[in-house]
Amino acid sequence: MPATNDTVSDRIAAARTTVSPTRLGLGLLGVTLALFLLVFAQEPLVHEAMHDGRHVAGVVCH
Ligand SMILES: [Zn+2]
Repeated sequence: MPATNDTVSDRIAAARTTVSPTRLGLGLLGVTLALFLLVFAQEPLVHEAMHDGRHVAGVVCH
């Protein structure tokens, strides 16, 4: 049974050798882009929460 010899570390080693630097670069770019979009998507919500917080605290001039 050759499948039983296929351990997780073997699969990671195989993935490391098969993934090209170009694909790795594209993957990192995708992760960076996703994080960037996540920050931009949440920024208005954070701003809104801080704005509401200032009104709750009684700060009218802001
Ligand atoms: Zn306001």
